[in-house]
Order: sequence, then C-alpha cells, then structure tokens
Amino acid sequence: MKTIPEMINDKAIWKYDHSKFHVQTSESGMHSDLYLNTDYVVSDVPLIENIVKNIFSKELGLRNIQPDWVISYPPFGLAIAYALARQIGAKFGYADTKTETCDFDIRKGDVVTVVGDDIYSGGSIKKTIKILDGLGAKVQSPIFTIGNFSGAKTLLDLEIVSAIAEKGNLYPESDCPMCKAGSKAVLPRPNWNKLILNK
Ligand SMILES: [Zn+2]
Repeated sequence: MKTIPEMINDKAIWKYDHSKFHVQTSESGMHSDLYLNTDYVVSDVPLIENIVKNIFSKELGLRNIQPDWVISYPPFGLAIAYALARQIGAKFGYADTKTETCDFDIRKGDVVTVVGDDIYSGGSIKKTIKILDGLGAKVQSPIFTIGNFSGAKTLLDLEIVSAIAEKGNLYPESDCPMCKAGSKAVLPRPNWNKLILNK
C-alpha cells in the first residue's frame, strides 16, 4: 500500500526537470521548481480524511492539545481545516488575509490550531497567525499543512507538521535559471495539464 506522501506525490506534485513550462506562484509571483496542486488532494475526500485522521489529529492527540477552533484562510486550506475540525470536535473558521480580519466569534484565550494548504514563503499563514494573535487567541504549535516546501521546520516559532515535506526553490523572474534555460513561467492551476504533460 502506498504511503500518504507517495499518494500526494503521484497525483498532485509537479517538479521541474528541464521542463518546457515552470511555475509562477500566484502568492508572491516568484518562480518555483516545485508545486503542489492541492485541488488534486482536497478533491480526493478519502485521502483528506486519511491525512487528517492519521497525521494531524494523531499529532494533536500525542501532544494532548484540544483546540477550541481550527482556523484556515481561503480558499485552498478550507476543506482540510473543516475535515480536521469535524474529526476532533472543534469549531471551524477562517481569516481573510486580504483585509487582515477574522469575523468568527473567537474569544480571548481560545485555543486555536492553524491549518493551511501549503507553505512556500509562508506569507498567508504568517498573516493568519498575526490576525489570531490580535484577537487574543492562543495559537498552538504545531501548525498543519498538506505540503511544506519552505525547507523550514518552524514558522513564527511554531512547529510545522505536514503530510509531505520537501525543499522547493523560489526565484525572482530576473534571476530564474528555468527562464534562462528557455522554460516559460505559467500560473500553475490554470495550466496544470500543460505542466504535467510537458514534465
Ligand atoms: Zn522562471
């Protein structure tokens, strides 16, 4: 039987290998040699339940953490956060990283577990944590993501636990070796088939 990282790798990971196209990330605009398309993970409901049950919820159990809330940010992490909240009997909500607000009824001292889709630079998760800190919530370590490609084990002093971890490389367009090799940068989700077929 395949492991969870193998299942994710098979269906949802693209890696640069002298490819005709490569990834321009939508979050930072940086070019990346590795990409996780979490659409191919969250659309597989049994896989999400498997990840939540056997990795995330198990980890919370080992650390004896019972959060009041599981909080994510739209859009890609919502399904994962909801599945975890349901599994452990917590409330579910999300922060708006664009307006830097969270309108859910989170009270001072509420224990919060933060869930994201993946971490490259970690910008959205950092914003989410700061919004929650501003509400007086207690954001617990670890934070959970499907993928961690930052090469770091912590973010804002919180441990990162992920279903798949690997070091990806981000380059500014002006200094991108893939562009220099003649590969074209594209937004990954709308061009997913192009990326995968020309791997
Ligand atoms: Zn490039």
